[in-house]
Amino acid sequence: MYFSVHVLAGAAAASYASTFYTALPVGLVTHALLDMVPHHDYGSIPPGVIDGLVGLLALALFAMGPRPVTAWGAAGGGIPDLEVFLGYFNLVKRQWFPTHNGLLPHPQRSFWPGLWLQLLVAGLSAARLLGLFLPRSL
Ligand SMILES: [Zn+2]
Repeated sequence: MYFSVHVLAGAAAASYASTFYTALPVGLVTHALLDMVPHHDYGSIPPGVIDGLVGLLALALFAMGPRPVTAWGAAGGGIPDLEVFLGYFNLVKRQWFPTHNGLLPHPQRSFWPGLWLQLLVAGLSAARLLGLFLPRSL
């Protein structure tokens, strides 16, 4: 799944958290869960650069926003893709995250079939973060 979608989903899930200790693991869990849903992953550098910049910008905005704990969830959601980025340049020899090393499934789809779910996740996450639905605390 795209890095920026992982960042948004991690932040949205962590919006229910109150501390770093829960927000970061929640973000990591969202990464694993979303990777296990059939999706599209790009395989070249230009979309990766754009996606990375969008995700990092979102992460910075969460850190400066009214609920900085969401930045920890965003970081947890995005951090696992750091090994994918480094692996693309052969800077790491092994993938450790379970959906990246084959321990858990990571099903792929072509662009259009694999894009719609990511748009849905991004939209729901953005809506959550904008406070358009669901209470801030359960
Ligand atoms: Zn991943």
